[in-house]
Amino acid sequence: MLAMNYRGPYRVRVQQKPDPVIEHPRDAIVRVSRSCICGSDLHLYHGLVPDTRVGTTFGHEFTGVVEEVGSEVRNLKVGDHVLVPFNIFCGTCYFCQRELYGNCHDTNPEATAVGGIYGYSHTAGGYDGGQAEFVRVPFADIDPTIIPPDLHVDDAVLLTDALPTGYQAAEMGGIEEGDTVVIFGAGPVGIFAAKSAWLMGAGRVIVVDHVEYRLDFVRQYAQCEVVDFRRVGDMAIHIKKMTDWLGADVCIDCVGCEAAGNAMQQLTGRYLKLQAGAATVLHWAINSVRKGGTVSIVGVYGPTFNAVPIGNAINKGLTLRMNQASVKRHLPRLIEHIRAGRLEPRRIITHRVPLEEVADAYHLFSSKLDGCIKPVLIPPRSPVMETF
Ligand code: NAD
Ligand code: ZN
Ligand code: ZN
Repeated sequence: MLAMNYRGPYRVRVQQKPDPVIEHPRDAIVRVSRSCICGSDLHLYHGLVPDTRVGTTFGHEFTGVVEEVGSEVRNLKVGDHVLVPFNIFCGTCYFCQRELYGNCHDTNPEATAVGGIYGYSHTAGGYDGGQAEFVRVPFADIDPTIIPPDLHVDDAVLLTDALPTGYQAAEMGGIEEGDTVVIFGAGPVGIFAAKSAWLMGAGRVIVVDHVEYRLDFVRQYAQCEVVDFRRVGDMAIHIKKMTDWLGADVCIDCVGCEAAGNAMQQLTGRYLKLQAGAATVLHWAINSVRKGGTVSIVGVYGPTFNAVPIGNAINKGLTLRMNQASVKRHLPRLIEHIRAGRLEPRRIITHRVPLEEVADAYHLFSSKLDGCIKPVLIPPRSPVMETF
């Protein structure tokens, strides 16, 4: 099959690779119909995730048609079109029983924190991902969801990560009626967090970024206020000015370890690697939220150390909430929101790229060229070629 292949930082290409095979009776093999590139893939692409091995296939956001099932998979049959959450989870461990699928204890040998994730280095289990023609799906009797016939495949693929992650980010903010919510990052996750914040009763939503076309998009798509941080001196003072000098009720980090905006953080976090990525947004969030407010974090950081103003968080009495999203938990509710027209995820897709041109897609998305918000890869043998 054709599959995306990691060759080292900033170098990816498509290559032939052996087709995946059933390795366990609970596996399925899926023929990929759609596969997105995510902001999380950029951390891999930029060489920031430890133990990202040459030859790995990335891709944790995919849909596909079942080609083959293992002997213990009874609820899926060949030909079913499924969406596959980015979390690989067993469904039965201590954490899965509590619907913390992102923290499954059985799918990642390094499972001190995160469970298995498709195409996300050996620190997340070393599974090959979905930027390929075929993928092996473990725990296929539990993890995938059959795409309902009235759900568009392009909406379905956004339900594998970006939308549920944005939704969970807002949910972890504990938003109350009328709250002012500040979201850092106008990428797909931040855009969906903004939409979700309204659904949860926010009275005001403000999105911060420095990429103009993304701010323009989110302003219109999520009907929110926007702040270009290049035009702001001190972020915390700016947010306080906007909120009667109290600060926001909720701040949400949808940026993570590659934050721009502070030269010292960039130097120590991204280039010298003295901390696990630039903690700029953590500073901005903790310092911009009001006393007693909540900071919700879904932006990804490395597993080690970050210089974070924890003293301010304590003195202000903040609630800090964070996690990898537990995708499966949110699907029933999100599918209802899509059906009712309250969420239109596929409108954020800006680029549909043949899998063969995966290197261009990474370059475009990473460098924020051509108005790119969300690129979707379409493999040459995708069972759903039409784009509607
Ligand atoms: P993306 O790269 O498309 O978007 C990130 C945005 O942040 C960009 O538009 C960038 O310009 C902006 N940005 C950079 N520095 C900033 C700053 N200081 N303040 C405000 N904005 C800033 O990525 P995405 O796909 O939207 O993902 C966002 C983050 O969420 C990534 O870190 C990704 O790894 C993470 N993520 C987490 C989960 C989870 O389950 N926790 C799931 C998916 C993605
Ligand atoms: Zn993702
Ligand atoms: Zn589990």
